[in-house]
Amino acid sequence: MPVAQYFIPFIPYPYKGEEIACDLCGCSEFEVICEHDRRFKRLRTVACIRCGLMRTHPMPTEAEIIEYYSSIYRLDYGLTSSKPSRRHLNRARRQATDRMNLLAPVLKPGARILDFGCGAGVFLSHAKSAGFKTLGIEPGTPFARFGREEFGLDIINDIWENVEVPGEFDVITAIEVVEHLRRPVNAMRWLRDKLAENGVIYITVPNMLPSDKETFRLFHFAHLYQFTPKTLEWAGAAAGLEPDPRFEPDGTKIVFRKASKGEELPSFDRNHGEGLQEQYPKASVSAFLINGRWLQPMKNRLTKTIRDTIG
Ligand SMILES: [Zn+2]
Repeated sequence: MPVAQYFIPFIPYPYKGEEIACDLCGCSEFEVICEHDRRFKRLRTVACIRCGLMRTHPMPTEAEIIEYYSSIYRLDYGLTSSKPSRRHLNRARRQATDRMNLLAPVLKPGARILDFGCGAGVFLSHAKSAGFKTLGIEPGTPFARFGREEFGLDIINDIWENVEVPGEFDVITAIEVVEHLRRPVNAMRWLRDKLAENGVIYITVPNMLPSDKETFRLFHFAHLYQFTPKTLEWAGAAAGLEPDPRFEPDGTKIVFRKASKGEELPSFDRNHGEGLQEQYPKASVSAFLINGRWLQPMKNRLTKTIRDTIG
């Protein structure tokens, strides 16, 4: 597959995909939310009529996803060599400290921590240094290898569907991971089953509520499902999870615990996806380029890159 097709703007991504039903509620009806992504490429995002969960349509097949990750994703994340970039690691260090602080109330001595999609293992290396027992799952081979070699971590290098993990965990984290998965609710259910009785799962995903950003700038080919605070909470409920009341809800960053009532699909009292497209402002990619509105986001991105590289 020519790699360039992933980068040339205005043309579709080189994939065929397949029609699927919503992973949260099983409904197949949808409304179109947007036809482009942040790279100005053609990419259709739809919202499930019933629950409002958004997804890429058609959904890339498993094989197409593997193709994408083996060619493009590594380029995108500075993984053209065998190790993550300094920029990536600096950012991950900052985020690891924040995550340890947030979870401190439930990190009892000797706690077992599973990081689902652990990347290069920066968070787990912090946790291990603090005396916790750690395990990572990471499908990306260069990341997994780096985490093992650099930090001496125990990391399983595979997709979650193939993984069997021993025992239960007091804390599970899945940071910006489930939106990349074709079956996010299934993955959350699988994680719930790995949870110790009073354990917690911290799940974060990008917040896709409408904002003043041009709508197409929300979307990214690697993100197969698009959550809002409500649909993330509902996905948790469908997987047998509920927000843990000890933690303040923070948009699409939720600390869950096992739900006392087990798995429960919310009773959708109305069609939450109907009319959703009107809440997402229509924006033309060409107008965005012509009027120079791209300058500010580009400047912001550059500033962040410089900070993360030097920091
Ligand atoms: Zn749905």
